[in-house]
Amino acid sequence: MLRKFKELAKGKLKELILNHRRRQNSVHFSDTTLRDGEQMPGAALTPDAKVTIARGLAEMGIDSLDAGFPIAAESEILAMRRIVREVKGPVITGLCRTKKSDIDAAYEALEEASIFKRGASLFIATSPVHREDKLRKSKNEIIDIICEHIQYAREKFEIVSFAPEDASRTELSYLVEVFRNAIDAGATSVGFPDTLGIMTPEKVKYTFDYLRDNVHNNEKALHAVHFHNDYGLATANALAAISSGVDIVQGTINGLGERAGNTSLEEVIMAVVMNHEQYRKKVYVDTTKLVPMSRLVAEHTGIPVTRNKPVVGETIFQTSAGIHQDGLLKNPETYLPFMPEKVGAEKVEMILGKHSGQAAFRARLAELGLDLGKEELDKLSRRIVDAPKTAWENADKLLQETVEAIRTDDS
Ligand code: MN
Repeated sequence: MLRKFKELAKGKLKELILNHRRRQNSVHFSDTTLRDGEQMPGAALTPDAKVTIARGLAEMGIDSLDAGFPIAAESEILAMRRIVREVKGPVITGLCRTKKSDIDAAYEALEEASIFKRGASLFIATSPVHREDKLRKSKNEIIDIICEHIQYAREKFEIVSFAPEDASRTELSYLVEVFRNAIDAGATSVGFPDTLGIMTPEKVKYTFDYLRDNVHNNEKALHAVHFHNDYGLATANALAAISSGVDIVQGTINGLGERAGNTSLEEVIMAVVMNHEQYRKKVYVDTTKLVPMSRLVAEHTGIPVTRNKPVVGETIFQTSAGIHQDGLLKNPETYLPFMPEKVGAEKVEMILGKHSGQAAFRARLAELGLDLGKEELDKLSRRIVDAPKTAWENADKLLQETVEAIRTDDS
């Protein structure tokens, strides 16, 4: 009787989660900085760092955290238990192979979390090369393993996601079978991992149209994607997936991750926020935390962010070109897709150099207390253009000295 009631409640709960999610009409973000990101060579994180990053992600409004691979080490379990105790908000999930020991380890790591805030993320590879050369199992054997382990996981977790590893190299007809069975077995979400980063936006669209038309129980689960950036397309692919109706995008801060990395969450978040008229999806992430979060992750992983990295790079709000400086001084919207405050960066910075124009020189000189007339400004521009590159490293000094020289010559 009790078992029957529990089963009924379970079915209801899953429906409640799905309906709530659909009413929100939003893109959900799942962060895997603490798992796939940490797999990047040299990015290892201490338990303290993991908790700090997890807290930052929670404050930013990330929906779920792929917080680790519990079976891998006792320290992984301990770090996840700390995250559960110290970080409130997101659903915390643990990665599991389709093995009962992995699911048990995930439960050990997450048991203190409320049933709505813990999940198991199961995976097994489904592509021909993995089936034949790595797993040595038939298509049907793999489907049996998937169903058995989803059912086992559902005894301990309300939230169970399943992802066929190397989905992008799996035959579409087989992928349909895998998703149908995983959803019937009780998966609350099914994921599409582009494990090798080989997808293109066009392939994403074709794949998700095909899945929608052929997976008859598609509506009974949420759909997630996990892209890698091997061709620099991880952000574009995630956006194509959102256009195709995918609910959850998984990625990392700064695009950390295996090989060329994962989808950069900051890029997808800003692209969706700034193109609301196109995607028509809400994003419940505080974008003003993106730059501080990027810096926090760079600091703890020791992996620096490229200077011109989209959204979070240190030089993206700097310009040294005259025409851009002139426009930015008149109205920053002339040459910026979004203002620095939007992502929590410092203000626009005019880097003075030989490409700068008179508008920028005049503005900086005024800040230094020097007001120049038109004639003086012309003279300054003519002289300063020949200054060596090293002199520009201290642009204020160069400007002041040049003005002094002009005024000495004139007097
Ligand atoms: Mn991955």
